[in-house]
Amino acid sequence: MDYENDNVFARILRGELPCTKVYEDENVLAFNDINPKTPVHVLVVPKAPYVDFSDFVARAAAAEQAAFWAGVQRTAEATGVAATGFRVVTNNGASAGQIVFHFHVHIYGGRPLGGRAK
Ligand code: AMP
Repeated sequence: MDYENDNVFARILRGELPCTKVYEDENVLAFNDINPKTPVHVLVVPKAPYVDFSDFVARAAAAEQAAFWAGVQRTAEATGVAATGFRVVTNNGASAGQIVFHFHVHIYGGRPLGGRAK
């Protein structure tokens, strides 16, 4: 699948749609999910365009990938869940439930999550 420039997260990154920003650096933007499943439910997106996790791993340089994961950790710290525990999830492809085709991870936390990912 080709990257679609008008997906929701691309529009948020361009400032065309609002978001509640949690963390930002030169590589990532993190903002609250509009339909939170847990008390803390934040999405972390790279600023560069990748369709999904597989595309990110295939095309992003190693330093860019490292910077992304550092941004995920910084986001967890900014929300407080780094201290209390959190889950990082990505839906890779439509059959896995991906609905926005700009790579992102979900950070879930703010309550005990149990031992089983959904
Ligand atoms: P998925 O592609 O399945 O990983 O999920 C996309 C996520 O984006 C869902 O959890 C949505 O609630 C969330 N979402 C969709 N539109 C927005 C938006 N405008 N602002 C924040 N979160 C959004």
